[in-house]
Amino acid sequence: MATHKIAVIAGDGIGKEVVPAGIEVIEAAGRRFGIDFQWTAFDWSCERFAKTGEMMPKDGLDQLRPFDSIFLGAVGWPGVPDHVSLWGLLIPIRRGFDQYANVRPVRLFEGVQCPLAGRKPGEIDFYVVRENTEGEYSAAGGRMFEGTDREFVVQEAVFTRQGVDRILKYAFDMARTRQRKHVTSATKSNGIIHTMPFWDERFAAMKERYSDVTTDQFHIDILTAHFVRNPHWFDVVVGSNLFGDILSDLGPAVVGSIGIAPSGNINPERAHPSMFEPVHGSAPDIAGKGIANPIGQVWSGAMMLEHLGHKEAADAVVRAIAVVLAGGGPKTPDLGGNGGTRDLTRAIVEAVKAA
Ligand code: ATP
Ligand code: MG
Repeated sequence: MATHKIAVIAGDGIGKEVVPAGIEVIEAAGRRFGIDFQWTAFDWSCERFAKTGEMMPKDGLDQLRPFDSIFLGAVGWPGVPDHVSLWGLLIPIRRGFDQYANVRPVRLFEGVQCPLAGRKPGEIDFYVVRENTEGEYSAAGGRMFEGTDREFVVQEAVFTRQGVDRILKYAFDMARTRQRKHVTSATKSNGIIHTMPFWDERFAAMKERYSDVTTDQFHIDILTAHFVRNPHWFDVVVGSNLFGDILSDLGPAVVGSIGIAPSGNINPERAHPSMFEPVHGSAPDIAGKGIANPIGQVWSGAMMLEHLGHKEAADAVVRAIAVVLAGGGPKTPDLGGNGGTRDLTRAIVEAVKAA
């Protein structure tokens, strides 16, 4: 029996409610498919920050290093500035473990109200792959002559051949595992005349190596319009750090509840642990009420299963989510029901046994 060591950071707010739900479902899938887990909890959070002045200990990364994966809930709390949870925990983990692929599935399920009119379940099913380590989010630049007429600001973007190639390769490899085998590149080479033509050039070079994968590319402005007007066009969409950031929020938004969307921060070479977390935050407005939708966390767990090499178990969890969403069973209020986190979790566990 395969045993996986998982570091668990439930974090703040509803993170503490949906993480146990996620574990329960992944355990159920493990029992069915012969996978064993060892879960180790870390209390790293804004709560810890309030007590100690640190989100995580100084040797936090060393503590996480021996684990196969990190299962994260949400960090953030009113009164603690966002940059504290970001720079005190999320970014050190993402960068420290070179989790250069940020992956978000976008799928329309039956039983979920889609904000786009006339869309049928199954019609929208794609992935956004975001470069997570370089690009537009760089510290290079500065400000001069502040407060004078001559004031100016420079912000540089850094695109390395290695960094661009590895995210493009990840996207093409992913497309190969899918039925449609199609990659869309987000660009803006008409306006951004150095980095984006380079991105296009590397995209064209990568495409040469994947004759079985079809491609297209769009400027980011029209691409966002197509996400809304033609979401059925897409299979795997790859973008730089900034463009991917925008698309990976827009994608889940066009298919309904934020409570459902999962994400992976992935180190594809498995040189370091990858991290799986729902797209949503700690949701202070509903924390402690037992009504948070656990599906974003559960689906993140399915992505973790897949990354750990258990595709069959991952598919079973996603099928269970689909069955529960489509059925007449319990739903949390964000899905239009009046059930709680526990009810929905129990329904998914039952569905996993049968999926
Ligand atoms: P962050 O700053 O961490 O990105 P945020 O504060 O922008 O997060 P969330 O914490 O995700 O946003 O909450 C946004 C809204 O979505 C809130 O009204 C919250 O209650 C709701 N929400 C988020 N996650 C869930 C969930 N799992 N179930 C139900 N509602 C949710
Ligand atoms: Mg917030």
